[in-house]
Amino acid sequence: MSSEAVKVDADMVVTFHYSLRDRDSADELIESSTGKEPVVYMHGHANIVPGLEEQMSGKQVGDKFTATVPPEQAYGLRDPNAVQRVPIKHLMNAGKLAAGQTVAVNTRQGPRHALVVKVGHFNVDLDLNHPLAGRTLMFDIEIVDVRAATPEELEHGHAHGPDGHGHDHDHAHDHGHDHDHDHAGHGHRHD
Ligand code: ZN
Repeated sequence: MSSEAVKVDADMVVTFHYSLRDRDSADELIESSTGKEPVVYMHGHANIVPGLEEQMSGKQVGDKFTATVPPEQAYGLRDPNAVQRVPIKHLMNAGKLAAGQTVAVNTRQGPRHALVVKVGHFNVDLDLNHPLAGRTLMFDIEIVDVRAATPEELEHGHAHGPDGHGHDHDHAHDHGHDHDHDHAGHGHRHD
C-alpha cells in the first residue's frame, strides 16, 4: 500500500479534533473535542462553518493549524433586532427566570434557544442571536483522518462516522444546526 497523503477536497470525509476560542478573549476555551469523539464531516457540503471548511481544503492527516474565522464566515454578525420582548407565557420552559439564563422559545423558524436579557412581570427580553454571532473564532485543528465518502454518504450529503458505521435509513436525520453542542460541526446525529 502506498502511503501517499490524501488531501482534503470535495466529497472527502474528514475527521478532526478542535479547540474553539474567541480571538478577542483567547484565554477562554469555548469548547473542545479533546478527550471526546472527534468531529466527522463531508467536505464541500456546508456541514461545518464556511470559513473553517475553506481552510480545511488541501490539508492532510496529521496537519495541525489554527483557522481564524471572521463572523461573516461563521455565525454571522449580531443582529440588534434579534433582541425581542416576548410574553413569558410563550416560553417553553417557564420556570423561574433570571437574566443570563438560556431558555427555549418557539419561533416561526421552530424552537430556538435564547439568552434572557431582562425579566419583567409578564414579558421577558430575549436575545435570539447565536451565542457566537459577531465573534471572530479561532479553531485549533488537528486532522485525524481523511477518506473518500461512501456512495451512501454522497447520497445523504453528510458523513456517517469514522468507520462508516451502520446507518438506519428509517430514522429522521437531524439536519438542524444544533448550536448548543457542536460549534465546529452541526450536531448531525443518527441516534
Ligand atoms: Zn445519513
